[in-house]
Amino acid sequence: MSVALITHPACLEHDTGPWHPECADRLRSVLRALEGEEFLPLLRELAPLATAEQLTRVHPAAYVASILDNRPEPGESVPLDADTMMSAGSAEAALRAAGGAVHAVDAVMEGWARAAFAAVRPPGHHAERNQAMGFCLFSNAAIAARHAQARWGLARVAVLDFDVHHGNGTQDIFFADPTLFYGSSHQFPCYPGTGAAGERGVAGNVVNAPLPPGATGAQFRAAWADIILPAVDRFAPELVIVSAGFDAHKADPLAQLRLETADFGWITEQLLAVAGRHAKGRLVSVLEGGYDLDALAASVALHVRALLRA
Ligand SMILES: [Zn+2]
Repeated sequence: MSVALITHPACLEHDTGPWHPECADRLRSVLRALEGEEFLPLLRELAPLATAEQLTRVHPAAYVASILDNRPEPGESVPLDADTMMSAGSAEAALRAAGGAVHAVDAVMEGWARAAFAAVRPPGHHAERNQAMGFCLFSNAAIAARHAQARWGLARVAVLDFDVHHGNGTQDIFFADPTLFYGSSHQFPCYPGTGAAGERGVAGNVVNAPLPPGATGAQFRAAWADIILPAVDRFAPELVIVSAGFDAHKADPLAQLRLETADFGWITEQLLAVAGRHAKGRLVSVLEGGYDLDALAASVALHVRALLRA
């Protein structure tokens, strides 16, 4: 069984302005990195638009409407918070990003792919139920998790997040629901300020492994091996969803962790092993951050190579 690669050209049309790190060139770099012969086996699919039903499992209808009704004229932009904005193409990009994550779930649940990577933007893990935040409009991974429960009847779904930033939005959406698990390693202190080790959810279903600025790949691996992976093994998810951010790389300009490219291969193998132990191998990966274009491309290539090898 193969691996699905889900994306859409509309994700390039979310225009954040000339100097914004969360730019369309990120996605171009990711897709270029997946062009080589070794990636020919990927099943390439276009991300569908998320539906209102899918979005409102996470976000109130009034919030969804506030995003979808907010379509500036070409060339104009509307700020949603200090570093999050909407251009003429943002609403469709956000619908494709969430829809791509949902389609990735359907791919592994229908069984025509064992794993799926949604190469989409805008990212999602900072978006709160009622608030766009930190480059994120809709909570893509949480929408995928809720879809897996609602359409496929899964009892337990985990989102595992190795982005350098804490996924405050995903955590908040999952916090009071013991059928969902959120595990995250992240730089701390750092944006957005949440993710202390004491934030544990209602049933130990949230596990945070904060890492100090300057932490290396060895510390990152220890945090996963000692803290997050044992906890997710106890939770025993029926589907693993990965919030795949590559901004913990030492070359990334937005934070100060010191991961090497190889560390992203290691974590991918660990998460595949979790999926193998509990979830019949089903793993969905959704792109989050990663802002050094070369490091992002190399890290994504290693991530997807590991998915293909599994
Ligand atoms: Zn990030």
